[in-house]
Amino acid sequence: MEDCLFCKFVKGEIPVNKVFENEDFIVIRDINPQCANHFLAIPKTHYKYLGEMTETESKTLARILSTIPELKNELSLEGGYRLVINQGDDAGQTVPHLHIHVLSGEKMGWNPAGRE
Ligand code: 5GP
Ligand code: ZN
Repeated sequence: MEDCLFCKFVKGEIPVNKVFENEDFIVIRDINPQCANHFLAIPKTHYKYLGEMTETESKTLARILSTIPELKNELSLEGGYRLVINQGDDAGQTVPHLHIHVLSGEKMGWNPAGRE
């Protein structure tokens, strides 16, 4: 995707500080952290929705999900962590390239819709 920010990060067209990279994905720090540690795990191929994944991409995503816990030190996952994939407008997806938020480093609440 030509105009996709995350594709540009993946291809190195826009410099970004990568915390980790392998053949499947890169991990960067979120520019606007919502937790003590807030990383983005970004698959190298472009698709927006889980429902659009090819079989290959779904196998890649499974590998990414099993690699994340192996990055315990790099991503500071010792005390527990949360993975979030925002899909579509109601969930607040702002970047149309599927990515996994990796949140850790402090006790988290659970209030995705801002209930009083
Ligand atoms: P979404 O809202 O699509 O689930 O997540 C997109 C995330 O990308 C947001 O948390 C946002 O802060 C992050 N983001 C947007 N632009 C940039 C950027 O230029 N650099 C980095 N590191 N993160 C970004
Ligand atoms: Zn993309």
